[in-house]
Parts: sequence; C-alpha cells; structure tokens
Amino acid sequence: MTGGAPLSALPDDRTATLDGLERGLFDLVLIGGGITGAGIARDAALRGLSVALLEASDFAAGTSSRSSKLIHGGLRYLAMGDVALVRETALERTRVYRLAPHLAEPRWMLLPTRSLASAMKFRVAVTAYEKLGAVTGADIHRNLAGEDLAREEPLLRRDRYSHAVAYREYLTDDARLVLANLRCAAEHGAVALNHAAVHEITMDAGRVDGVVARDARTGREFRVRACCVVNAAGPWVEGVRGLVQTGGDPWLHLSKGVHIGIPLERLPVENMVVMNADDRRTLFVIPRDGVVYVGTTDTTHSAGPAVWPEIEKADVDYLLAPLSQYFDTAPIGRDDVVTAWAGLRPLVAQAGKKAVDISRKDEIHIGAGGLVSIAGGKLTGYRKMAVNIMKTVEAALGRTLPEADPDLALPGGDFSGDFETLADSIAVRSGLDERTARRLVRLYGAEAEDVLALDSSKFSGDDRVVGGEIDWGVTRELAVTLEDMIYRRLRVALYEPGTAERIAVPVAERMGALLGWDDDERSNQVRSVRARLASDLTFVGEGER
Ligand code: FAD
Repeated sequence: MTGGAPLSALPDDRTATLDGLERGLFDLVLIGGGITGAGIARDAALRGLSVALLEASDFAAGTSSRSSKLIHGGLRYLAMGDVALVRETALERTRVYRLAPHLAEPRWMLLPTRSLASAMKFRVAVTAYEKLGAVTGADIHRNLAGEDLAREEPLLRRDRYSHAVAYREYLTDDARLVLANLRCAAEHGAVALNHAAVHEITMDAGRVDGVVARDARTGREFRVRACCVVNAAGPWVEGVRGLVQTGGDPWLHLSKGVHIGIPLERLPVENMVVMNADDRRTLFVIPRDGVVYVGTTDTTHSAGPAVWPEIEKADVDYLLAPLSQYFDTAPIGRDDVVTAWAGLRPLVAQAGKKAVDISRKDEIHIGAGGLVSIAGGKLTGYRKMAVNIMKTVEAALGRTLPEADPDLALPGGDFSGDFETLADSIAVRSGLDERTARRLVRLYGAEAEDVLALDSSKFSGDDRVVGGEIDWGVTRELAVTLEDMIYRRLRVALYEPGTAERIAVPVAERMGALLGWDDDERSNQVRSVRARLASDLTFVGEGER
C-alpha cells in the first residue's frame, strides 16, 4: 500500500513544518495548492527536486473543489476544433484511472436526442472522441432507443427524446484528487502548507530567490528561499505576478461556473446526462451520493478573484429550466436546491471571445526575475501540465531531470482487483453497511482500511461518516479548520448537505481535542461553517435571464 507522508495539522507538527520551510533552500517553491500546484509538486518531487508548496487558504479551496468533477476530454471542445487538447485530455482519463481508480469512476454519460438522424450525428462525434481517447472494448459507446432507453434511464422523457448515445466518462472528486497528489508529493519529500498566503516575492540581483508568507493560524511571517518559483495561483495568478511586475495586457479571462444540487429522491436519474440549456449550451446532470448536481454556467466575471462570485437567482433558474423538458418530474424550483457552488475558471484571455468560446489550453509565462506562471488548462490535464512546466523548471535550474514514474499510483490507488471488490470486502470486514463502505473507498481508496483502523464508529446511524476520518484528516491531510474538514476532506457539504449540518458540532469537538481548540474556538468554527452552508444557498439578484 502507498502510505503518504503525514501532512499533519497537529500544533507541534505545524511549527516544525514552518521551521523547516524557513531553514531550507528549495529547488522549487510553488504558490497555490489547487490541482495545478499539487500536480507540479508531485511531478517535481518524484524527479528528486526539493519542493515547497504554499497555499493561501486550504488546499483545493479555490476552483479545484468547485468544478463539475469530470475527468473528460470534453466532447464540446471537439466541436470547437480543439482536437489536440481533446486528444491529450481524453488520453489522460485512463491514466488517472490507472493511478487512482477510486478517484476516477467510469460512468455512462447519456446524450439524449430527438430523432434517429441526430443520434447518428452524435454517434459520429462520439466515435471520433473515442478514437482520440483510445477507448476500447466494453467502454465503447452504446446506442439506446425504445425499451433499452426506458430501462437505462426511466426518468428521461421519451415523448421528447427517442434515442440516446451513452458514452464513457470518468467522475472524480476534484478536492480529493488534489489531496492525493499532495500526499504523494509529501511522501517524496515535498513540504506543503495551507493557510499560508504568499505576499512578497524576494529578489537577489534581479532574480527571484524566494517568497515571504504569513501563517494564518499563528500570524507568523516566514521566508522560504528557492532556486525557482512557480506561480500556480489559478484565478489569482495575475495578482501574484503583480508582486514582481506591473502593467502589461490582462492575461486571464475569469469565467464564473455555477452548480446546483437537488436531493436525489427529487430527481432519481440513473446516469450522468447531457442537457442543452435554453441558449443551446451543454449542461451536465450528475447523480452522486445523496444529490443530483446540475452545471454549469459560463459567464465572464469582471470583478476579479478578490470578489468570489455570488450565485444569482438567474444562474439557478437557468440550470433548473431544462430539467422539466428532459425528465418526467414534478416542477423543481429554487427551494429544492440543497447545495450549490460557484467556481472561477482561470482561462487564458483570447481577444474578442466570450468565456464560453475560449480554449481551455494552458499557457506558461516567464516574467520579471524569472518568475514562472501557469494558467488555463483543466483538472483533467493536470498531470500533462505538470510534465510540460518541468521543462521550464529544468531550464531555470540549469539541469536535466529524470522523468517521474508515470505509473506510480496515487495514495490509496494501488489496490488489486476492482473498486467493487474492495468496497465489498471492506463492508464485510468492518461490519459497515454497503453504502458507507462504498463512500469510504471512493474517498480514500485502499487507505479506507487505515482510516477505519483509527475508528470505524459512525457519528450516527443516519450518516456515513466515521470517526477515523476526522483523525485522518487532521493528522494526514492537514485539515486545520472545520470548513477544511467538512468541505474538502469529508465532502459532505456538497454531496450530503444534511449530514454536514448534523455532524458539524461533533466533528468540531473531535478536531478541537486534537488541535487544542477552546470553547470559543470550537463555537467560532461551527458558526463559520454554518454561515458558509447558509451563504451557499443565498441566491442574489433577480430571477430568470
Ligand atoms: P485553483 O484550484 O483555483 O488553485 C489556485 C490556488 O492558489 C487557490 O487555492 C488559491 O487559494 C491559491 N493562491 C492564490 N493566491 C495565493 C497566494 N498569494 N499564496 C498562496 N496561495 C495562493 N476541469 C475538468 O477537467 N473537468 C471538469 O469537469 C471541470 N469543470 C469545471 C467546472 C467549473 C464551474 C469550473 C470553474 C472549472 C472546471 N474545470 C474542469 C476546470 C478546473 O476546475 C480548473 O482548471 C482547475 O481546477 C484550476 O486549478 P488551479 O490549481 O489552476 O486553480
């Protein structure tokens, strides 16, 4: 089993990490702990570089916990003519599946059509997509109609949609993919710290030679010295670039993307389904745990990343509108929405193009003093982005590095047999119900056994979270706040919001015992999570658009 090195939030361990960061001279310092930074940290550590990564908030707290969570090549981008990008990301799907089968669940994506003629058109597109992604065997698309379609997706309105093409996509968990990459990096010597914002980039003789950051937990300022600094700050990448240079054309075009979640029992779909919104844009309907989430919007966000986008009533209405056209369901309204999240795509600006038409390609800039910045790209292509940027890092360091082992499993990903077998055996051995065992294996892979060894008792019979997850999150995944735990370790805020509310207090008690919180701190943590849960569902502005 791949055991990750501890990313421990215990107070003494955090102090030791800060001391180590201050003492060291690192080959590479990374700014930003989303998927881009985490992927680069892993690749660089596997090549033998000494690596430090600093994250202003929590790992994955930016866009990398707020995506559609698909590991996909993007059929839509094929229509935009981005063949090379689609090929690269389509091929990456199977790679992620090999490295971490628990974080890449093969699912059928249904593309409903109104006639055989349009089904034929989509079959051609899907076939091209499969060729690019080297899809074979049982993963090749299926054509559905009549009784087959009714059986596969009973809720689909067959009075409107007579045919469907079902093709394979992979569903991941974005935040946990980030954590898995960081833990693998840490296992190979990288040091990663969250809640530590970089506010200064230091120079010596005109060359970048380190960063200064502040630990939000203790207020301690610290300097980290580096041979090369990479800015992987996602939507904040321009602000970080601004620490060493001013002026120049805007690099990024930020685009807001909203998802909303409805209880599964209100919309019990069986598969992931593609819908067209009223403006013909593609939307996904994705059942997962206790919810079905629908997304996403794609609109320019001009206010900059300092103002995280609010979810507007118009966004919610836009996502809800097509549901009744596709599914046999009682009307679903804003009051049915139980979870929602907004992300910001850090797209590389293309003059004159709207957000929806901009390519998802990544781009690397070398700025003043040799600061390397990366933006654009997709979650799916993170590993390839890391490999590409290492060429720039090699040039900056003036040495050739060995390749990282492309087949090294992510923590929890090296189990023999398939997901189902592992989940079944864990259910039998732990005595837990099947749904709880499946959830644990989805989140932790083979390491679910280690989590259960810490404590396999559930918080309540209604919930599927076990006590060991809290200890694991604090001592192995650097969960520092209750929000880190509920939102990005346990993931219940997104997929089982009722559970998030129910377990907030006992989880805070358990974290507090480990982290030395007093009563005030515990109450503040609970208050802050409840405020976030409420604000996620506070939709602003006027309805419709
Ligand atoms: P982020 O995840 O935003 O990470 C940047 C990090 O830098 C943040 O955590 C931030 O706190 C940190 N930071 C900022 N400033 C500082 C500082 N001064 N010091 C230290 N740290 C700092 N891609 C797919 O492949 N599949 C999908 O299904 C998909 N769906 C999407 C849906 C939506 C709605 C959106 C918005 C995007 C989607 N994407 C998808 C794209 C993908 O999510 C993003 O490309 C990816 O998450 C960007 O990761 P990142 O690490 O570059 O940025």
